[in-house]
Amino acid sequence: MEQTTSLTPQKTFTCQLCDLSSPFTYYGQKPPNTRAIVLLEECFVTQDPFSPDKEKFLVLGSTCSLCSTCVCVGPDCSLFYTKRFCMQCVNKHLKQFPLQIQAELAKKKPSSKSAAS
Ligand SMILES: [Zn+2]
Ligand SMILES: [Zn+2]
Repeated sequence: MEQTTSLTPQKTFTCQLCDLSSPFTYYGQKPPNTRAIVLLEECFVTQDPFSPDKEKFLVLGSTCSLCSTCVCVGPDCSLFYTKRFCMQCVNKHLKQFPLQIQAELAKKKPSSKSAAS
């Protein structure tokens, strides 16, 4: 007989780049209570606290496929291109990403051209 304990210690996901932290309920590719959803990567998932729908969940972050750093899915912290990459690795290996990705990243970078006269 197994006792169902509702007091499982809450695990916390922390982004190692921006320090965002949030409790997560599941890590993996198939969040529980979802109908045949398989994520593209293993990630930290939490149930959407704002939705009554049990199947709604939020992806908080994942681990970088190169350096295993925990990063959130924010565009400033990671990039998903066939795999998850943290921004540190993206910048290190920028030349290996397709031009389209490079262009998109360049757009995000704040340009300080106004300083030149
Ligand atoms: Zn982050
Ligand atoms: Zn990385």
